[in-house]
Amino acid sequence: MNDCCFNPNEKMLTTDEAIRFLLERSKATEQVETIKTLDSLGRVLAEPIISTLNVPPMDNSAMDGYVTRFSDLDDSGETSLPISQRIAAGHVGNNLETGTAARIFTGAPVPEGADTIIMQEQCQQQGDNVVINGKIIKGDHIRRAGEDIAEGSEVMSIGQKLRPQDMGLIASVGIADIKVFKKVTVAIFSTGDELLMPGDPVEPGKIYNSNRYTLSGLLQKIDCEIIDLGCVPDNLDATIDAMQRAAEQADLIMTTGGVSVGEEDYVKAAIDKLGSVEMWRVAMKPGKPVAFGEVNNTPFIGLPGNPVSVFVTFCLFARPVIRTMQACSDVLPRRMQVTAGFDWPRKGPRREFVRGQLINDEQGIQKVHTYSSQSSGVLTSTVWAHGLIEIPENTTVKMGDTLNWLDFSELLS
Ligand code: AMP
Ligand code: MG
Repeated sequence: MNDCCFNPNEKMLTTDEAIRFLLERSKATEQVETIKTLDSLGRVLAEPIISTLNVPPMDNSAMDGYVTRFSDLDDSGETSLPISQRIAAGHVGNNLETGTAARIFTGAPVPEGADTIIMQEQCQQQGDNVVINGKIIKGDHIRRAGEDIAEGSEVMSIGQKLRPQDMGLIASVGIADIKVFKKVTVAIFSTGDELLMPGDPVEPGKIYNSNRYTLSGLLQKIDCEIIDLGCVPDNLDATIDAMQRAAEQADLIMTTGGVSVGEEDYVKAAIDKLGSVEMWRVAMKPGKPVAFGEVNNTPFIGLPGNPVSVFVTFCLFARPVIRTMQACSDVLPRRMQVTAGFDWPRKGPRREFVRGQLINDEQGIQKVHTYSSQSSGVLTSTVWAHGLIEIPENTTVKMGDTLNWLDFSELLS
């Protein structure tokens, strides 16, 4: 990575400024499609979900037991009542005769006239009667109609990214098909004469292309369609050609490597010919050079080449852009707080995103630890880690300090 041609006096962007600029320039898709609720995992809702019914639809039993009128129970604590009917889940019983109890099972509708359920552990069947013992509270063990969802209420709003529990809730109000925003298609290619594809024999001076795989996995994780244009050699014509093909087919173009302005970096030069590009030096570690632009109205993000920088800049910059393009309402990752299990005596002018692991000490107290190498080429750090520790600019850290934490569960979803 060669950034000799950047003006050293030029002010670097902070990470927050870079994210803000990117989000200002990103547009949400308006294209929608109708899909099965069952196939909607990870998709983004394009309509609110309004319930046309109560959930549960009727008062029903939360227990296996007996149902009766509270007023028919004896104050002495023991009551014997004839069993007048049996009501299983999915079946509607008759009105409950006064002075009787009905056998009832979990999920079965409470019959008209009844108001209290007694769990079977407090009941003993004796011939055609049930003997009920113990303290009973009026209205016990009844799940009320509309307790979960009231008819007419909005249970989910536009822009919500659907998780398994969301799919269940939509199904619980009886909706089998939903409108979602169309998937964002991302065309990717890696640049570099040094790159070999995994499966190819080893060659002197070459390395395997890991970025293609990392990027592909990152994009799959956030539900993108991928057009993989493979690997492009370090020359202007090949880079222009790949960039044009990408712009024709995709909603977003994303590249790795070649994004500085060194002699062997052709990404900026290619886009200068085809569209417009801004090169940013972001005051962060790992990362630094990130490019943003457009080719024939297709937005472009150029990530750095170093494998850890690709991972981190994707999570911090590309992911929020894609989430915005997907019309997702939840764009930025939530930060959590963790306790440092390490000292960080060197302060630096750039914000650091340090690969960390959460470990419980002997007292069961969770602390965060850092990987032995934080070099931007050491991809093993990202495999070892559970997330990124955010160390602010010009800051040292002492064991026990509270730090911001970006968990991979936030960044990779
Ligand atoms: P560049 O930004 O192109 O100067 O690349 C910076 C560093 O990342 C160099 O050491 C490259 O060899 C390495 N690199 C670039 N692209 C890839 C890739 N696709 N897979 C693995 N390493 C890469
Ligand atoms: Mg390169």
